[in-house]
Amino acid sequence: MEKPYNLKRPAGLEDYVIAHADVTYLIFSKKEETVYCTRCRKLTKTREAEWMEHKGKALCPHCGQEGETLNKRYGRKGITEYGRVLWFRKHGRITFAQLDEYDIDYTGVKPTVRFWPSAQYRLCKDSQEYYKHRPEGCWHGEYWEKKSNVYLPAPSTGMLNCFCKPKYLKTETHDSAWDCLGTDLKYANTDMLRLGFKDELDPYGLIIYLAAFLKWQAVELLEKAGFENIVAAKVKHSYSVVNWRGNSLRKILRLMPAEIKEFRAAGGHAVGLDVYRTVKEKGYHMSFKQTKYENTWAIEGNLEAIGKYTDVQKVLDYLDTQLCVRTNDYIDYMKDCKTLGYDMNRKSVLFPEDFDEAHRKTSERIKIEADALKQAAFEKNMEKLYGKPVFESDGLIIRGAQNATELREESAALGHCVRTYVDKVCRGDCAILFIRKAEAPEKPYYTLEINKDGKVVQCRGQRNCSMTEEVEAFVELWKQNVMTKSKKRKEAA
Ligand SMILES: [Zn+2]
Repeated sequence: MEKPYNLKRPAGLEDYVIAHADVTYLIFSKKEETVYCTRCRKLTKTREAEWMEHKGKALCPHCGQEGETLNKRYGRKGITEYGRVLWFRKHGRITFAQLDEYDIDYTGVKPTVRFWPSAQYRLCKDSQEYYKHRPEGCWHGEYWEKKSNVYLPAPSTGMLNCFCKPKYLKTETHDSAWDCLGTDLKYANTDMLRLGFKDELDPYGLIIYLAAFLKWQAVELLEKAGFENIVAAKVKHSYSVVNWRGNSLRKILRLMPAEIKEFRAAGGHAVGLDVYRTVKEKGYHMSFKQTKYENTWAIEGNLEAIGKYTDVQKVLDYLDTQLCVRTNDYIDYMKDCKTLGYDMNRKSVLFPEDFDEAHRKTSERIKIEADALKQAAFEKNMEKLYGKPVFESDGLIIRGAQNATELREESAALGHCVRTYVDKVCRGDCAILFIRKAEAPEKPYYTLEINKDGKVVQCRGQRNCSMTEEVEAFVELWKQNVMTKSKKRKEAA
């Protein structure tokens, strides 16, 4: 289709764009003793030009803006700035808006601006229209397309520079947004800062907000009632948990008056509203403070899990008395209590005064018990696979490892990885033995691994080194005296 509307650009749009350019150029002439500033567009006669250097930095003698200095004698071809500007026009009830792409060309002494339309909007209560311009491509000529949702298009990246910053990234809203909105938007609040945008007239937020304001009476009703957070969630993330077609707060929020009051007091955040409703559908009540910590997808399962331990509503009321405890944390704590064999009917177990403290204690005890179980398995399997007293000969001794701590210390002292063998020992897959000098029985020397059949798998010393002749001889002796003997005894038995 052809361009839908012929809209006249606001007077002074060119000046506006130049004044808002990112870079200011100061074009100086030493001969004429002049400096021309592209921002304020004033030519100043000044002897300062004498001291200026091509592509240096200086301040405009007229407006004081810092700029890049360019010698008038040199060409300025290719010095261009690109951007987009959104401006408004009103016609009675109707608001028109156009998004222009522009480039500022600094080739001449005075900068010139070229505009071309990129998007158009026609906004009123009856309809909200958005048209996007499609520039000429390989397969088609230029055309305009009507879009079904109203938003501001992202700057196009183009085929050749799709990995860099888009050329027309800079996008601003023109001042006409203040006084050129149609009467249908009389009560619209265009302050985008309050909705969480960084710019007061953020163009992306503004277009979505204005269209939403016109489309749904709910926007104005929610704002008036202090639920700006919900409007913000819609404009920023199109996050929608309310009935936008509703014509009263009750219908919009799908809450009873008392609930609306509670919701507002809790800050009225859209996050959590769906959790609140899910909990309500299950026949329970969760405070809005609590819903904010919860996860929409998990909440139903969590209620069910809690129900297996105790009364769900009592738990929800209890969580409300605690500081930021999620149902997930509570379920975790319940599992701990059960594992530890606590009396699950006791009030002090179900509803401890300080949840965090109680949870920390159960986690600690679980860890201690797990360690104790591990130690028991370690001892049992060492006894099963080896279980011999200390053997001594020629100033060397050999004995079985007693616990995980010993393996860690052995690893640290000798720089090898026997510390990672704890689980292997606990499973009964191997036994670890220590060879030490009789004069220093506490000092790690050599570490020996034997497998399930009592065969030596490896014997390593400092940094995984192999055995010395002396150690080798000792190990041979030990095999004959301890291992073979016991084997024979076993066979005899
Ligand atoms: Zn200036």
